[in-house]
Amino acid sequence: MNLILLGPPGAGKGTQAERLQDAYNLVQLSTGDMLREEVKSGSDLGKTAKEIMERGDLVPDDLIIKMISGRIDQNSGGDGIILDGFPRTTAQAEALDRMLDEKGLKMDHVIQITVDEDAVVERISGRFSCAKCGMGYHDHFKKPKVEGVCDKCGSTEFTRRADDNADTVRSRLAAYREQTAPILPYYEAKKALKAVDGMGGIDEVYARIKAVIEEG
Ligand code: AMP
Repeated sequence: MNLILLGPPGAGKGTQAERLQDAYNLVQLSTGDMLREEVKSGSDLGKTAKEIMERGDLVPDDLIIKMISGRIDQNSGGDGIILDGFPRTTAQAEALDRMLDEKGLKMDHVIQITVDEDAVVERISGRFSCAKCGMGYHDHFKKPKVEGVCDKCGSTEFTRRADDNADTVRSRLAAYREQTAPILPYYEAKKALKAVDGMGGIDEVYARIKAVIEEG
């Protein structure tokens, strides 16, 4: 099964993708995570992307498409993929369709997680993740079971994203409205889009997504 999770920053795409990958043995492909790795490694792509990400703008389509295309090729470790944060523009959605065609794959569900913008700012400003395994947490909504210790790998080091501040969040929301929301009709026209209410607790939203998947 292959899935796309769509929605503005802070909708819970990464959190839900983590749950879904364990439940359905899927491989999560997050272009945001890949770019953060590139920034960390100091690659040419990372150097180009760093400033763009700090501004809250989108990294150019050609760079993103090249980066993800290699990862879809390499995917062999699960029963499918979850795309989280990709596609984000109409050009990316069209390129994805071409890649899937070439590889004989198809998307089974395109799930749009809807949220209020005010809630997004609150969610984003409280989030942090394990510096070692990347597991995501939140100051209010998802604390580690033992304070200061990662539930998944036991590490005691955590990080906060450089772009999770109020100014950048506003730019990221604008990028979503202007460049990403226009792809919704693309999937609607294919009768592939399913909207899920992303307001509520993590378990509640997960149950809604699961219901959509299991309805088929
Ligand atoms: P995310 O972790 O999905 O919130 O992405 C963090 C940042 O990485 C975004 O604000 C963009 O600057 C960049 N980014 C991630 N995915 C994409 C994409 N598919 N297209 C363009 N830029 C992206």
